[in-house]
Amino acid sequence: MNPSEAPIPHDPIVAEVEAAVRTLNLAKRSAELDRDPAFPRSEFQQLGRLGLLGLRTPQRLGGRGLALPTVGIALHHLAYRAGTTFAKLSLQPEFAGILGEHGEPALVDQYFRPLVRGEMLVGNQVTEPEAGADAGALALRAERTGPGYRLTGTKSQAAFAVDADAAIVYARTAPRTASSAGISAFVVPQDGPEIHRSTQDDLGERWMRRGTVHYEGVEVTEAQRIGPEGRAFDYLKGELVRERLLLAAIYLGVGRSSFDEVVQYAGGRATFGRPIASHEAVGFPLVEDWARLDAAWLYTYRALERMERGETVEAESALAKWMATEVALTAIDHAIQFSGGKGYSKELAHERRWRDVRSGALAHGPSEIMHLVAARSLWPRRPDPA
Ligand SMILES: Cc1cc2nc3c(=O)[nH]c(=O)nc-3n(C[C@H](O)[C@H](O)[C@H](O)COP(=O)(O)OP(=O)(O)OC[C@H]3O[C@@H](n4cnc5c(N)ncnc54)[C@H](O)[C@@H]3O)c2cc1C
Repeated sequence: MNPSEAPIPHDPIVAEVEAAVRTLNLAKRSAELDRDPAFPRSEFQQLGRLGLLGLRTPQRLGGRGLALPTVGIALHHLAYRAGTTFAKLSLQPEFAGILGEHGEPALVDQYFRPLVRGEMLVGNQVTEPEAGADAGALALRAERTGPGYRLTGTKSQAAFAVDADAAIVYARTAPRTASSAGISAFVVPQDGPEIHRSTQDDLGERWMRRGTVHYEGVEVTEAQRIGPEGRAFDYLKGELVRERLLLAAIYLGVGRSSFDEVVQYAGGRATFGRPIASHEAVGFPLVEDWARLDAAWLYTYRALERMERGETVEAESALAKWMATEVALTAIDHAIQFSGGKGYSKELAHERRWRDVRSGALAHGPSEIMHLVAARSLWPRRPDPA
């Protein structure tokens, strides 16, 4: 079984993804990058040349401008074949989307277009030691200096902390009020002497080399600001809706690969004179995974279609990411279990997939916050009594 048999229409993008996975040896590279974490700059560039970065990015910004459901299929398949690594790299322009959409043309030319071509890595720095799930509480200061701003503060847990060429840094330009988060975003090259970067040792997605970035009075110009002052948080919230749906497609692709492998194993491995799949304790959890993986993918795909039509899918996107992570983790955990002792070893990919997908319950909004987002749409906030 493979994802093309999953209940989603076939799309020619799958052949392109297959060719890239084969030519660039992406499945093997994912395993290597887990063992020896590094930013795969060469593959990133080649993905750019093949047009696999910026699948969704509008053509006017150098991307392919493909419809969201097609992008979802591409990422689901890339993740199915090669894990989260290159699917997430393919999404980097999406993660920097506020720059493409709201940056001044010169800023877009300098940073965003090279990102889409795979020539420059642009990170995203929102989280701080005291502001994660409640990102609106971030405190890194951008103080006015006349010609521009001076950035002072610390970003933490950032992907590509030591590898990014530049980063979109979210900073406070005004106090938080009921009507405004008071947050602006700046594109900051990461090589200045007032920038100190360090990395940490992560459970999964180790190639991202997450870490901490200190800004000690870094001067930036007004031209480095994305959009008008104080708007960045609204831009970010809008973008997260699309990101979360595409991440759900990725996690489900990874879950599906472990599922397909263990289905095959369980059909062939015999104990007590018959295939382990025919022991209900093994077969039944696997058929449940089958239903959950299909259902979550259909749910995600429907939300991608609705978003493409311009409908509001904020709650569905939050729920899709939460559900995809849970469903994929359960499927991978079953793959570990029913592969027997080997499943617990690095000989099989299940353990790495589990570690990588586990990030989905935390990054781009933790699962608890996904519930808050969805609950808010079921029970909208009433205005406070006067
Ligand atoms: C692989 C990975 C990559 C990442 N990449 C980046 C990146 O590139 N850039 C970046 O800026 N950040 C990045 N992050 C950081 C991520 O966004 C934060 O970890 C996340 O927002 C949670 O923040 P925190 O770690 O400070 O947890 P906290 O905010 O301290 O929360 C701790 C726990 O409490 C829960 N919680 C908090 N408030 C509530 C509430 N009101 N109700 C219920 N539960 C609540 C949270 O859900 C969480 O489980 C990444 C994280 C991971 C794991």
